Amino acid sequence: MRRSGTIIIRGIVQGVGFRPFVYACADSLCIRGSVTNLGSEVVIHAEGEHFDDFLKSIRKGPPLSVIDEVIVLPLEGVISDRFLIMESGAGNLSGMIPPDIAICDACIEDINRINGRYSGYWATSCVDCGPRYSVIRALPYDRIRTTMDPFSLCPACEEEYWSPDFRRHHAQTIACGSCGPSLTLMDPKGLHM
Ligand SMILES: [Zn+2]
Ligand SMILES: [Zn+2]
Repeated sequence: MRRSGTIIIRGIVQGVGFRPFVYACADSLCIRGSVTNLGSEVVIHAEGEHFDDFLKSIRKGPPLSVIDEVIVLPLEGVISDRFLIMESGAGNLSGMIPPDIAICDACIEDINRINGRYSGYWATSCVDCGPRYSVIRALPYDRIRTTMDPFSLCPACEEEYWSPDFRRHHAQTIACGSCGPSLTLMDPKGLHM
């Protein structure tokens, strides 16, 4: 029975919510370590009693991912006493860019909710849906390398982005009516209607 390892996952692992997915698996199985996005690979350093179960659950991947290869190597280096999502590194940048993904049912519910944060907001998205191909400028996929970068997060979006308790934990396209892009309707002459 293995208790630790460095896990390298290759395939469509960008823009599909892989890091928050791994975080949730680690959290539920008391795994310590970290997950990093390295271009076309996700690299996980993990240690814990339930390592084998952890490996089994991450092999499934989040719904939009396509896993081509999972490599498990001995763990090297010091591990944190918690599980952390690390900043993306350069790594191998030959990865596949995921397509834009049609809005999910949960986000449609958010848009239709009366007096919610996302009520009526057209650019609502989450880790399971929203633009990817259209907004990615470069890999690895992080907000600073997307066309969403100029839209600084409001405190409420910031909280959802950083907290594992929310559906939009690490959702790079998170945006709401107070901080995200807005639409303007104009006539053919460019005049506001
Ligand atoms: Zn969604
Ligand atoms: Zn916001």
